[in-house]
Parts: sequence; structure tokens; C-alpha cells
Amino acid sequence: MVTQRTFSIIKPDATRRNLTGKINAKFEENGLRIVAQKRIRMTKEQAEQFYAVHKERPFYGDLVKFMTSGPVVVQVLEGEDAVAANRKIMGATNPANADAGTIRKEFAESIEANSVHGSDSPENAKMEISLFFKDSEIVG
Ligand code: GDP
Repeated sequence: MVTQRTFSIIKPDATRRNLTGKINAKFEENGLRIVAQKRIRMTKEQAEQFYAVHKERPFYGDLVKFMTSGPVVVQVLEGEDAVAANRKIMGATNPANADAGTIRKEFAESIEANSVHGSDSPENAKMEISLFFKDSEIVG
């Protein structure tokens, strides 16, 4: 087990329903520390770059539209095995398949409006963090 950082986004469906605090409580109750956080409005260019890996998928255009439809909260979470730990706290991409007690099971509206993003590997976590935060903004 190593202390690790992961990148998280509280998505527009969740900020719209004022769920930032409830979602942050899930992270904190499950051993992750929020070491950086800011509320931003993603630009189309940022969303396209962030989800570039899904460019060929049929839902790419809708996803970019959704991610720019309202404010998001971008975050750096720190803890033991943070990348995998956060994926567990989030639950499956499709809330219908998510385990009880996970963020997506409790809060997600649909497979697209699924309330949170979390990095899927330590390498992607580093890259995603660097897209939104300077080192000096992360206070561990
Ligand atoms: P994640 O790592 O669990 O977020 O899942 P993916 O990397 O596979 O997908 C990225 C995001 O695209 C998801 O979190 C959803 O917001 C969206 N998404 C994934 N699959 C679908 C789909 O089949 N339809 C739609 N509309 N959106 C999807």
C-alpha cells in the first residue's frame, strides 16, 4: 500500500443538485483526503481534451456537452492506494450496476450523468491532475 493521489471531478448533475458536500463526505469517510479543490466551468476545449480517449465513441459529443453544461468541482484526493480506493467509492460507470453505498448508486442520474469522475490509473491521475492544478495548489 502506498500513499497516492488521484484526480476527481464532481460533475454538473451533482453540482446542480447541491451534492458537493455529500460526495465529499463519502471521500472523507472512506479515508481519502481532499488536498486540492476548485469549482470551475469547463470550456469545450478542456472537456474535449480531457475525454480525447473517447473521441471515436458515439457518446463523445453528448459527453462534452454534458461536462460543459454547468459548474464542476475538480479535486485531488490523497490516500492509501487512492486511485483504486476512489474507483471503489465511486462505483460502476452505469449506476444500475453500482454497488450499494457507492456515490454512483446513491446519486447518479444515468450512465452519462453519473456524478463523479475518477482516474483509472496512477499514470492517468498524474496527467489529469497536471491539466487542472499547479503543484503549488496541492496542499497535502
Ligand atoms: P468511468 O471511468 O467510469 O467514468 O467510465 P468511462 O471512462 O468508460 O467513460 C467516461 C464517461 O463517459 C462516463 O463516466 C460517463 O459520463 C460517460 N459514458 C460512458 N459510457 C457511456 C455511454 O454508454 N453513454 C453515454 N451517454 N455516456 C457514457
